[in-house]
Amino acid sequence: MTRDSRMVWDDCLRTIKKSVSPQSFKTWFEPIKPVQLDTEVLTIQVPNKFFFEWLEEHYVQLLKKSIRQELGERGRLVYHIPESGSKPNGHSSNSSKLDTRPSADKDSEPVPGSFDAEMIKNPFIIPGIKRIKVDPQLNANYTFENFIEGDCNRLARNAGLAIAKKPGGTAFNPLFIFGDVGLGKTHLAQAIGNDVVSKIESKAVLYVSAEKFTNQIIQAIKNNSVNDFVNFYQMIDVLIIDDIQFLSGKQKTQEIFFHIFNQLHQNGKQIILTSDRPPKDLEGMEERLISRFKWGLSADLQAPDLETRMAILETKMDEEGVDIPSDVLEFICYNIKNNIRELEGVMVSLLAQSTLIRRDVDMVLAKEVIRNFVTTINKEITVEFIQQLVAEHFNVPVEKLHHETRKRNIVIARQLSMYLAKKLTNKSLKSIGEQFGGRDHSTVIYSCKAVQDMMDTDIVFKDTVEEVEKKLKMSLNI
Ligand code: ADP
Ligand code: MG
Repeated sequence: MTRDSRMVWDDCLRTIKKSVSPQSFKTWFEPIKPVQLDTEVLTIQVPNKFFFEWLEEHYVQLLKKSIRQELGERGRLVYHIPESGSKPNGHSSNSSKLDTRPSADKDSEPVPGSFDAEMIKNPFIIPGIKRIKVDPQLNANYTFENFIEGDCNRLARNAGLAIAKKPGGTAFNPLFIFGDVGLGKTHLAQAIGNDVVSKIESKAVLYVSAEKFTNQIIQAIKNNSVNDFVNFYQMIDVLIIDDIQFLSGKQKTQEIFFHIFNQLHQNGKQIILTSDRPPKDLEGMEERLISRFKWGLSADLQAPDLETRMAILETKMDEEGVDIPSDVLEFICYNIKNNIRELEGVMVSLLAQSTLIRRDVDMVLAKEVIRNFVTTINKEITVEFIQQLVAEHFNVPVEKLHHETRKRNIVIARQLSMYLAKKLTNKSLKSIGEQFGGRDHSTVIYSCKAVQDMMDTDIVFKDTVEEVEKKLKMSLNI
């Protein structure tokens, strides 16, 4: 049987999967599409050049190994990068191919149609242009060192690091960082600026909120000095504009910004933008701007997982020189999920309280403080809450717990919910049964016994039960 590109790539993926974390696999390998197979050359499509650079830097050996395993010693990969929109000094072809043979092999003949990554860089940098001294308006507290890495921010953080090393010299221009409030957009954008300033003194870095930028334009229009305004911005090497969504609906500002953006981009200057939503969702923003926002890399910041939240909080506490018991830390991070700023808020109140009333930071104090932050906190464990949490843990819709079904994971989720309801609430067997689609008390007894038996024989299941139980207790104020 002859193998096609899909089959070969699937086999490669099997090898790769064994060597990387599930998260890395999902981030870096699942988005890849095999497109063509010519005897010893497999062409794969990656979403953008950043992807290619990342793979090349981090996974080249692994890719090499897996492809040779599948296609023999001479087997190799060629990347295909779809071009998104046309660039000002753009290549007219619809796609770019990059020869990704590991560097050591590159002295052999180049692949037709391939080009050197250098060619992507802009040729319009004017040497010796007048330097200006600009106050970058940065907050020195926002650095990469104290911007904790987690799955939630890995792509954005690493793109930021790459930019800081070579502002304007990577494919991520602009870098468009988006995400909900309090997830670290401003911190990350400023960290890039601070890093550039500390390394390359001659670079003119400027951080400005979109709001301030808009106000400056309004002033400039009033004073008849729009040209000066534009000229000033054109001298910036790294321009960071925070909360760009603020420009929505502001046509004149957008027009001037468009002009500045083009000039900077053409001259190989770095542009970093943050936004509370991805480019495509920016209503009231001109299409030509949105399409430029997509030229480089759009990277989102997501809500951090528990481990990352704990690491962030621990670092902050360390910075404050405060020791916090690990159960308190865990309790806080369990309860404050979506917003890092809020996490810090809890911490600050906790510290204030403990200094004011000279109490140690303990669980009792933590619960008092957190009550002011979490309005939805439950006073007691209810059957509904158990059902909700178990369903979430098992990744099944909660209403399925009420219906007749033989699906194994649903049956287990239902039995476990009953078991926990019996254990953690004062409800009678009868009323518990009623809350599971009107079952009778004997079903509840049977379920509790089934769960107990499974826990006795299956250590993994026992761990699961304990984890869910802990989650329940942590989520509640008990
Ligand atoms: P945004 O601009 O997205 O609303 P901020 O950058 O203001 O969010 O971040 C809110 C707070 O959370 C800041 O104090 C910031 O230092 C902190 N923060 C966010 N992400 C991290 C992280 N990964 N590590 C450490 N602190 C973080
Ligand atoms: Mg912000």
